[in-house]
Amino acid sequence: MKIHEYQAKEILRKFNVSVPEGKVAFSADEAVSIAQNNLGGNLWVVKAQIHAGGRGKGGGVKVAKSLDEVRTLSNEILGMRLVTHQTGAEGKIVKRLLIEQGVNIEKEFYVGITLDRAISKNVVMVSTEGGVEIEKVAAESPEKIIKETVDPELGLQQFQARNLAYALGLSGQQHRNAVKFLLGLYKAYVASDCSLAEINPLVLTKEGEVIALDAKMNFDDNALFRHTDIAEFRDLDEEDPLEIEASKYNLNYIKLDGNVGCMVNGAGLAMATMDIIKLAGGEPANFLDVGGGANKTTVANGFKIILSDPNVKAILINIFGGIVRCDRVAQGVIDATKEINVTIPVVVRLEGTNAVEAQELLNNSGLNFEVAGSLKDAAEKVTAILKK
Ligand code: ADP
Ligand code: MG
Repeated sequence: MKIHEYQAKEILRKFNVSVPEGKVAFSADEAVSIAQNNLGGNLWVVKAQIHAGGRGKGGGVKVAKSLDEVRTLSNEILGMRLVTHQTGAEGKIVKRLLIEQGVNIEKEFYVGITLDRAISKNVVMVSTEGGVEIEKVAAESPEKIIKETVDPELGLQQFQARNLAYALGLSGQQHRNAVKFLLGLYKAYVASDCSLAEINPLVLTKEGEVIALDAKMNFDDNALFRHTDIAEFRDLDEEDPLEIEASKYNLNYIKLDGNVGCMVNGAGLAMATMDIIKLAGGEPANFLDVGGGANKTTVANGFKIILSDPNVKAILINIFGGIVRCDRVAQGVIDATKEINVTIPVVVRLEGTNAVEAQELLNNSGLNFEVAGSLKDAAEKVTAILKK
């Protein structure tokens, strides 16, 4: 799960990680009131809250030097369609703002914590090249990213935090501030079951403080049950409506841009199905894992989700009957097709126990199925339909 920057900063505050003063606003009036009453000072930053980075470049982060400017900028940014390198061309509509105190920036750094799956350990990364796209730094000058691998039994050690702070070129009190920041950030990451904590930029202020100017935290969904406070941060406005609908049916659905709807059991087979559709020259419209027991209800729910995407022109059902018998699945597919009244072409490939009986059922159903044998055959049949 992803959350907004202002929510991530609320979590960081609880772990004594330094962040600028700030508050969420849903209207320009609220924004002005926060700047005036909660923050004080005479420099504020108006920040669009969407689940994507690159907001600054896209015009979603602006500095205000007066309360009038806070109002003008808030009106400008609220409701705008913000396009960044992470939103795709369609962008995201801004519905919330973070009104934050303006910080005097001396230097911008990068800090990220994530799990390195290859070594099954968390890794803390820093770079002096902050504020820019870190992917670029990683690709063009990887030596500028300094890493410390964390032993899960011990957690991030003082000496490791000190190494990282030295790598940022800090000394004296600034170095101590950075060490405290890194240890606190690591604690927040582990205690909240994050899959990613990224501070870009981490800044050194003109006053010598080390403070998170931006904050991104992603969470392991499987651990959310033990963080009800974090689960409440979920913002459905930021998620794809079809994916939300699918999660109600316990279906694992990810929307893509193609036109071949896919209904598959098992994540591995679903990925292989998408690959082979591409190999046959088609474009998958989605990833959909209907789970182990593909029956009439799950197939019908799958159809509903797939058909809600207007791009879908044909459907490929690819189900392996290992525990569940193929003839049962075939009957489920037939019943669901009738119930939902599917009018676009459907290619079905059922393999496994009672596959022959399943093919007979499909062929004799009186419905317009194309029955396929191998996975390759199925992908070729569905792409051929679309080329007609
Ligand atoms: P994004 O990564 O989505 O572009 P950031 O939060 O990193 O958004 O903000 C972009 C830039 O705006 C930062 O690199 C920083 O230079 C500036 N900025 C952000 N917040 C503040 C702040 N509170 N005070 C001063 N400058 C800020
Ligand atoms: Mg940033």
